[in-house]
Amino acid sequence: MKVERQPLSRLTTLGVGGECEVWTARNLEELLEATSAPYRILGGGSNLVVSDAGLEQRVIRLGGPYAAEDLERDPVLSSETLHITGWVGGGRPLPGLVRTAQKRGLSGLEGMVGIPAQVGGAVWMNAGTRYGEMFDSLYELEVVANGVARIYAPEELNYGYRSSGIPRNDIVTRVRLKLAPSTPAEVETRMVDSDTARKGQPKARTAGCAFKNPTVSGKKVSAGMLIDQAGLKGLRVGNAMIALEHGNFVVNLGGAKSEDIKELLRQVEARLEVALEWEYELWE
Ligand SMILES: Cc1cc2nc3c(=O)[nH]c(=O)nc-3n(C[C@H](O)[C@H](O)[C@H](O)COP(=O)(O)OP(=O)(O)OC[C@H]3O[C@@H](n4cnc5c(N)ncnc54)[C@H](O)[C@@H]3O)c2cc1C
Repeated sequence: MKVERQPLSRLTTLGVGGECEVWTARNLEELLEATSAPYRILGGGSNLVVSDAGLEQRVIRLGGPYAAEDLERDPVLSSETLHITGWVGGGRPLPGLVRTAQKRGLSGLEGMVGIPAQVGGAVWMNAGTRYGEMFDSLYELEVVANGVARIYAPEELNYGYRSSGIPRNDIVTRVRLKLAPSTPAEVETRMVDSDTARKGQPKARTAGCAFKNPTVSGKKVSAGMLIDQAGLKGLRVGNAMIALEHGNFVVNLGGAKSEDIKELLRQVEARLEVALEWEYELWE
């Protein structure tokens, strides 16, 4: 098994985080060894603010077969209108998976375009957009908890908006997808629609939306709109800034520290009348 010390700033989209011991597990045996001491499980690092001082726990990544994909049609479970795939590893980067599905004319993952997660992280958070979420396309999933691998049907989990119901540190090792047979051209068209909705998002290093959309007088309100209306776009602490393009995105202008990001989020919270909840996960 590969074990190396490296800064998590290299493995997170925001580009922040100190040195950690990173274990890459490629099968159940390695995963059991890796989880024998306190750990955290890392996906694409696209929702994380990691401490500049690094972490005491091991950081586990999924590699080898746990990062591979098999989109072949299961001849027994599939039908004319339903394509049940083979296993796709929790460590498989989502953008690559979305693209292979498009090339094979398989529909269902188009709403996930532009989410720089891994399959396991996207399942754990039930990531998605208004065009669909990860659980829409799940046929079954394998989760390793307390050293035991178990297969679940999605209905057995208490999943909901941006949540899978899977306890923290249980590991999504692989999934099978239910997709709809289509054509590459049709899937591409839907991907373009979904991608167009992202055009206003910043290109700089970020971890996506910083705050969850709050509920005000019984209605969900856009956190980005509230931040924008408060005139906070461009607010800066060190090299962390509220993006000029989108009020709910924090960008790293280069060399930002986790302390800068936390302070920036605290300043935003202090200047708004509505209480906000962080979407970013803090690893300290
Ligand atoms: C540019 C950009 C755009 C984004 N757009 C969206 C969007 O449209 N919709 C959306 O929902 N999110 C979006 N995000 C946020 C982010 O991509 C999602 O929250 C995603 O689910 C995080 O997955 P990850 O693999 O990067 O997980 P990480 O950030 O690595 O980890 C997040 C959490 O998942 C856990 N985790 C990771 N892998 C596993 C695993 N295999 N098993 C169990 N737990 C695991 C981690 O322990 C951690 O608790 C965006 C982020 C960026 C940077």
